[in-house]
Amino acid sequence: MEEEVHGIVIVGGGICGLATALALHRKGISSLVLEKSETLRTDGVAIGVHANGWRALDQLGLATELRETANIITGYHNVWQQQSKSTIIPARHWRGAYQQEPSASAVTLQQLWQTLILMAATAPFLGVRTMDGSTIKANVLIGCDGANSVVAKYLGLGSPSHLPLLIMLGLTSYPHGHPFGTQFLRFAGNGFAVGRLPVTENLVHFFVSRPSPATGFTDESAAREYVLEKLQDCPDEIADMVRRCDAAETKTLTKVWYRSPWQVLLGRFQRGTVTVAGDAMHVMGPYIGQGGSASLEDTVVLARTLSRSVPDGVVVVDGNGSTRSRELQDKKISVALGEYVRERRARLFMLSLESYVIGTLRIAKSLLKKLACVAMLTLLGSESRRHANYNCGPL
Ligand SMILES: Cc1cc2nc3c(=O)[nH]c(=O)nc-3n(C[C@H](O)[C@H](O)[C@H](O)COP(=O)(O)OP(=O)(O)OC[C@H]3O[C@@H](n4cnc5c(N)ncnc54)[C@H](O)[C@@H]3O)c2cc1C
Repeated sequence: MEEEVHGIVIVGGGICGLATALALHRKGISSLVLEKSETLRTDGVAIGVHANGWRALDQLGLATELRETANIITGYHNVWQQQSKSTIIPARHWRGAYQQEPSASAVTLQQLWQTLILMAATAPFLGVRTMDGSTIKANVLIGCDGANSVVAKYLGLGSPSHLPLLIMLGLTSYPHGHPFGTQFLRFAGNGFAVGRLPVTENLVHFFVSRPSPATGFTDESAAREYVLEKLQDCPDEIADMVRRCDAAETKTLTKVWYRSPWQVLLGRFQRGTVTVAGDAMHVMGPYIGQGGSASLEDTVVLARTLSRSVPDGVVVVDGNGSTRSRELQDKKISVALGEYVRERRARLFMLSLESYVIGTLRIAKSLLKKLACVAMLTLLGSESRRHANYNCGPL
């Protein structure tokens, strides 16, 4: 089998991998994206993008087009059924909006490959073995391969944990318009939660979550039945929205992954010219809706720092430079990746901590634990969604 050599290889063609390729492309640096899935798919139904994510999308040149396809969320309406209590909080910035998952077609992409990555220590290059048995060598390897990343394992990061939570996600159409305005509703019932996010005047995204029983579920439809049992406790408006959802656009997650804040704080995110971004680096529970936006921030910071080490945009590989110049460049790239990791770590630690504390609060039984979580969330500015204020800076 023939061997190929590339300057930069990105493993994973999800939001983060494609955005990384685009960010590098906008800095004049080419890369190769390897994706194991043969087809484009909409795995997660939809995601919310906060103001910080929109800032990153602006830098990637995607925001203008995407803004045209979704409404802006103007506020958060929280309802606690048992306490008969509700609050309305304005969205932190008018640019904080809800958006269906961007389609891959919005991204310029060098190449998609069906692949399974096996790390082979073939110094000085990194070896990537594809499913057809061929080997691709790279100077720089960026793992954007999601929660169960093989690149993260290569770096020595521990496996992520999973939350004791089942989540059903879906979309419901209202051909004559829905009456929900532009507010994100979070409804907390007895042992379940519902989220409702208007996407357009005619389309609403929702999620229903319920703690999983100790025995767990491996079968998606059984898990869905279990989650839907709670519909009888919901107001009619919510139950109706879930019942009439588009069945083809629903998904029930039986495993929701997260990397602990301590791993994010202390874990090894770089080894020479290998690093990770997106869920591979910091998969977090869905409680603050920041995993995707944080991944977009990663890509802007990564491309910005990496481009400083390759000012002319050319990553030297054998054949377009001497071994010596390649080694010198690899050293500079390694320093740049170190800067990227340093810049991201504090931000990602705060996000994963906030998400972790909310998750802990949801399942906490002791009053003391609950109070500690509430105090921590107050410190983190969770209620005001301070995390959405972040600006990752220019590309
Ligand atoms: C229920 C839920 C709700 C969420 N809501 C929000 C939200 O509202 N807002 C938000 O910002 N975020 C949200 N998130 C998080 C967000 O979906 C993720 O953070 C984001 O999708 C991560 O993108 P990624 O590209 O890093 O990983 P992924 O989307 O997992 O993509 C990884 C890609 O790598 C490929 N891959 C994996 N292994 C290999 C391999 N060995 N070789 C080649 N390719 C490989 C996979 O096929 C996949 O295409 C939510 C997550 C969940 C679970």
